[in-house]
Amino acid sequence: MQNYNRKKRILVTGGAGFLGSHLCERLLNDGHEVLCLDNFFTGTRDNIISLLGNPSFEIIRHDVTFPLYIEIDEIYNLACPASPIHYQHDPVQTTKTSVHGAINMLGLAKRVKAKIFQASTSEVYGNPEIHPQPESYWGKVNPNGIRSCYDEGKRCAETLFFDYHRQHNLRIKVARIFNTYGPNMHPNDGRVVSNFIMQALQNKAITIYGDGSQSRSFCYVDDLIEAFVRLMGTADDFIGPINTGNPNEFTIKTLAETIIKLTGSKSKLEYQPLPSDDPTQRQPDITLAKEVLGWTPAIQLEEGLKATIPYFEKQLEGSRKI
Ligand code: NAD
Ligand code: UDP
Ligand code: UDP
Repeated sequence: MQNYNRKKRILVTGGAGFLGSHLCERLLNDGHEVLCLDNFFTGTRDNIISLLGNPSFEIIRHDVTFPLYIEIDEIYNLACPASPIHYQHDPVQTTKTSVHGAINMLGLAKRVKAKIFQASTSEVYGNPEIHPQPESYWGKVNPNGIRSCYDEGKRCAETLFFDYHRQHNLRIKVARIFNTYGPNMHPNDGRVVSNFIMQALQNKAITIYGDGSQSRSFCYVDDLIEAFVRLMGTADDFIGPINTGNPNEFTIKTLAETIIKLTGSKSKLEYQPLPSDDPTQRQPDITLAKEVLGWTPAIQLEEGLKATIPYFEKQLEGSRKI
C-alpha cells in the first residue's frame, strides 16, 4: 500500500478561489507543502489569509495561460472562473484558461513527472438527456452558445488530459464536479446558492430564473474536497473521469424556500427569464465514486446551508463597514 501521507510539494492552480482555498487548507493540514497559484480574477486573498502564516504555504500570482517552470510532485488544476457571470465576462479568456491552462499544466506535469488532477465539471454533460448522469454519457452541449466557452473549454481540457495520458503516460485524475457550495464562495458570483443567501439575508426578492422547476444537486464543499484527496490517492491505473457531487436533487424553487426558512427571511420569490442553454435537470450518478473512492457525501443540504449562511453574514457585515 502506497503511503499517501508522505510530505509532497503540491501545486493548486486557482488556489485562492472557492474550492481551491479549501483544498489548500486541507493539503496543509495533511502535512504537505502547498503552492497556491492564482491570477486573482475571481479568487481573493481573503480566502487564503488564514493560511499565509503557515511556512509550508506559498502564493504565486500567475495566469495559467502562460508557461510555468517549477518543481513539484502533484498538481491540482482548478484555475478557471466557474460561475456563469464570471466565465461569460470574458469568454475568450475562459476558453484560453481551460485549454492553454491545461496544456501548460500538462506540459509541466510531463516535465517533472507529477501526478495531475483536473477539475472538470458536470457541464460536460450540457443539458443532459439521461438522468442521473453516469460518466459513460457523452453529453448534449451547444458548441457555440453563451455557456460554450466554459463547457467546451472543459471538454477540450478533458481531451488533452486523456491524450497526455495515452501519448505521454501521464498520471492523470479527472473529476467531474457537480454544483458545490459553502464558505468562500464569491458573494457576487451570481450562482444560485450565493445569490439566494445574499438576497434572503437582506430581505430582498429571491430571483428565480424560469419557473424554478429546474433542478440541481448540491454538494457541500467539505465532502467534495474529501473526494478530491481520495481520488488523488487512487492507484495510477484509475484515471477517471469520475463524478463528484451529492446526488440529492432539489428544484431551484425548493432551494429558495429552504434558504428563506433557514435565514428567517421576509424575502418574496421573484420570477425572471431563464438564461439560454440553462440545463433543466442535473444529478450525478456516483456509483463509481462509491466503488472506487469509498466515498459518499455526508453533509446534506440543510446542514450545509447552516454552515454556509454565517459566512455570507460576515461578508455583508464587511461590506457595510466600507
Ligand atoms: P472560483 O472562481 O472561486 O475559483 C477559480 C479560481 O481560478 C479563482 O481563484 C480565479 O482567480 C482563478 N483563475 C481563473 N482564471 C485563472 C487563470 N487564467 N490563471 C490563474 N488563475 C485563474 O471557482 P470554484 O468554484 O472554486 O471552481 C474551481 C474549479 O472547479 C474550476 O475549474 C471550476 O470549473 C470547477 N468546478 C466548480 C464547481 C462548483 O460548483 N464550484 C462545479 C464544477 C466545476
Ligand atoms: N510547459 C510549462 N512548464 C513546464 C513544461 C512545459 O509551462 O515545465 C508548457 C509549455 O508552454 C509547453 C506546454 O507546457 O508549450 C506543453 O508542453 P509539452 O512538453 O507537452 O509540449 P511542447 O510544446 O514543449 O513541445
Ligand atoms: N438561478 C436562479 N436564480 C439565481 C441564480 C441562478 O434561479 O439568482 C438558477 C439558474 O438559472 C440555474 C440554477 O439556478 O438553473 C443553478 O445556477 P448556477 O449558476 O448556480 O449553476 P449552473 O447553472 O452552472 O449549474
